[in-house]
Amino acid sequence: MKLSRKYFTFDYNETDAKYIEDLANYLEKAAQRIIDFFEIKHLTQPVYFKFWDSIKDFKKYLIDTDKGYESWVVGHTSGTDHRIDALSLKARQSVPYHRKDAEKDLFEMVVHEFVHMCYYQYVGYKDNLLYIQEGLAVYLSNQYSDAKFPLSCSLEDLLNETQVDYSNYRLIFNHIFKTHDKGYILKLAKDKQFATQETPKIANQLLS
Ligand SMILES: [Zn+2]
Repeated sequence: MKLSRKYFTFDYNETDAKYIEDLANYLEKAAQRIIDFFEIKHLTQPVYFKFWDSIKDFKKYLIDTDKGYESWVVGHTSGTDHRIDALSLKARQSVPYHRKDAEKDLFEMVVHEFVHMCYYQYVGYKDNLLYIQEGLAVYLSNQYSDAKFPLSCSLEDLLNETQVDYSNYRLIFNHIFKTHDKGYILKLAKDKQFATQETPKIANQLLS
């Protein structure tokens, strides 16, 4: 089944039917805010969201298309394909760490992946430090809003792109948004060299 709005199309299943309209409304509202944040004016093409109600098929797709699969993965964004693959809520609830997930968790993840998509377009599909990419996605999708200090990562983790608990990314970006203007944040997003140079300063303020 398909549902299309200005910036995206959902390709979904029977199991998603009960929340799909709410999810479309939720994403549509967030999408404009995110597009405005990155000042990209519009998307080069609408994002295609494919919801999978079978973990087996989701896994097979990710492996067959060389997109990579781990047992804890519940969503995947491919910037160049303008495509996001995600598990339906019911399937997601049988993945480790996601057993207690509610609609809210799925909705926030869909927005998180949409941030990645806008980000890729903004930076021209270049790479940046993992914590910058994930921090923006977590902050702009309002995930981990109850994260509490202290951080459980080091400066080296941030520079070496070690994957750490996502609550760290939220805390770091709460701080960045509180203490810097948007011009600085967009520069961090776009310029990996600048981000690398700023990271010790950012970390020092939070790890001391
Ligand atoms: Zn992410």
